[in-house]
Amino acid sequence: MEIQRGDAMLGNKLWMVRGVEKRASEATGIELVPLLWATALPGGGFTKEIYDEVKAESVALLRSAGKLDGVVVLNHGAMEVRGLDKHADTDYVEAVREAVGKDVPISLALDLHGHISPRILEIVCAISALRTAPHRDDLETGYRTLDQLLTVIKTGKPQKIAAVRLPIIIPGEQAVTTNEPAKSLYGSLSDLDALPGIVEANILVGFAWNDRPWVGMTAIVGSDVSIERAREVATELADKIWANRREFVLSMEHASVEEGLARAAKSIERPLFISDSGDNTTAGAYGDLTDVLQAVIDRPELEDVVVAGITAPRIVAQCKGAGIGTTITLTLGEEHVSGPKNLKTVEAIVEGFSDQLKPDGFQPYLRSGGAWACVRIGHAIATFHADSIGITTPAHFSMTGIDPKGHRIYVVKLGYLHPQLEDYRARHILLLSDGASNLDVTKLSWSRIPRPAYPVDTDASWTAEPNTFTTPA
Ligand SMILES: [Zn+2]
Repeated sequence: MEIQRGDAMLGNKLWMVRGVEKRASEATGIELVPLLWATALPGGGFTKEIYDEVKAESVALLRSAGKLDGVVVLNHGAMEVRGLDKHADTDYVEAVREAVGKDVPISLALDLHGHISPRILEIVCAISALRTAPHRDDLETGYRTLDQLLTVIKTGKPQKIAAVRLPIIIPGEQAVTTNEPAKSLYGSLSDLDALPGIVEANILVGFAWNDRPWVGMTAIVGSDVSIERAREVATELADKIWANRREFVLSMEHASVEEGLARAAKSIERPLFISDSGDNTTAGAYGDLTDVLQAVIDRPELEDVVVAGITAPRIVAQCKGAGIGTTITLTLGEEHVSGPKNLKTVEAIVEGFSDQLKPDGFQPYLRSGGAWACVRIGHAIATFHADSIGITTPAHFSMTGIDPKGHRIYVVKLGYLHPQLEDYRARHILLLSDGASNLDVTKLSWSRIPRPAYPVDTDASWTAEPNTFTTPA
């Protein structure tokens, strides 16, 4: 978890905050009062203690901030808190409402992989969500969030918002906004924004791997005229999403582990990026599985491969004990907790170690437990980490002493590549590997999502009306 407070939040290009700053800089007479920004790598739910601490600090800061004309909440929307049997983002927004009283408007920005609840619509005056995946528009989204809030402050009229929930459980990889059908659906949003009576339309793809009652896709529309108008456009949008549900398929290059590595061996493109999608730490998987590393080791024809970001605290401790430059025997697979313990014993040379990882940019890992080790195993270089990590930018390789340009193949624990890697790779192959973030959601066990849900129940039927909720009349 990384926390920034007060003025330290400004001028640092923080996720979404930078968009709020941009909108504020274009207006006169606005005083931004930055309070708190907290972020963490996804990887299971927060402990209740950490969440309660951040919530309590948020409330205390809001209460001592003096008279506020409005509040911007920049959340993700799929936060999970262990032991809180509730949509955590709703709980957080409720706490903000309680802290500032009933009259201060609150606008909410979300990642498109988030969710909302009927209760949220009783609290917020406007909702903006990202419109690109991989995410490239946090600036625009933060900008719109403050823009909507300023309008509400000026007119004194909160938006009338309608949200339609769709029982569609789609991993983000199947709703990439550069590919259909997400491309057209998201592409239509600016046209909907421009319709008479409409302020903003958004689509939440949701987060497919949370087995929770509120998981699914959502069409959200805000109107400055009436709930009926918002409901009308939201229903049309939701119907279009439902009609396209079978088109949400994996359209990027993908293959089984074996087939993907065979293709990689023949590939002449450099750098070639391979993602281990079943163990995607940015989708909440633990990152502990070494099956892809083991398969890489078995294929010397791959010649030169970096396998980065494996969660293995005991291997890190072993490397620390042995020291840089020594040759050690590692048993890969012993620390698997999210899959079978497939064991492989290898000789490895410890090439790097540190108790700390000091990254910069988005996806911060400044915290205890940042210890890592880098080892060479024949033609492979692997990095192991005491805690889950997402390798999402070229700079993240440099942090462990790995040249992000100098190698033939890089394996990362992601699904789709984040923008900085996507812009950097010559080719990307997504491996349909097993694990907690398996892209085939029909292979996962579900007990809490409302059924039927597509594609777990292929014949699921649905209509918008009973699944629509709105701001109070
Ligand atoms: Zn997202």
